[in-house]
Amino acid sequence: MNDCIFCAIVAGAAPASVVLDEPEVLAFMDIRPFTPGHLLLVPKRHASGLAQLEPDDGSAVFEAGRRIATACGRVPCRSTA
Ligand SMILES: [Zn+2]
Repeated sequence: MNDCIFCAIVAGAAPASVVLDEPEVLAFMDIRPFTPGHLLLVPKRHASGLAQLEPDDGSAVFEAGRRIATACGRVPCRSTA
């Protein structure tokens, strides 16, 4: 295993308060929250930066983030129909 703390959390080797667990992504509460409800959303496959992120993982992260933000009420859901 590499020394990435996020990979350790994904593998269950480091503790986390998990908010969302899906095949490609994991969301968990930040240990030093900047604001109430501050959470981290990471791809389960390691990427050292945005340029190394697989496109499918990036899509999964964005989609999960959109759903989490909607659930938190930070992003209004409006139908254009
Ligand atoms: Zn990692």
